[in-house]
Amino acid sequence: MRRLKVVVDLDRCEAHGECTRIAPDLFRLDEELDLHWEENPPGDRSDDVRYAVEACPSEAISVDEV
Ligand code: SF4
Repeated sequence: MRRLKVVVDLDRCEAHGECTRIAPDLFRLDEELDLHWEENPPGDRSDDVRYAVEACPSEAISVDEV
């Protein structure tokens, strides 16, 4: 199965958390509000990642297929 390559521009991320609500197993904010994310999720998660891309108010998330 193809995998995705998810990139988050941390200079743009303002810890709104929409991505963590859409896919909490792929995106997580820690106690310091630093974002951690799965950089290479399986291709069958592309819908969730794309929803997160669209929901991010800072347009900080981008995704490619690899
Ligand atoms: S939705 Fe965007 S701004 Fe909010 S935590 Fe996720 S990447 Fe950061």
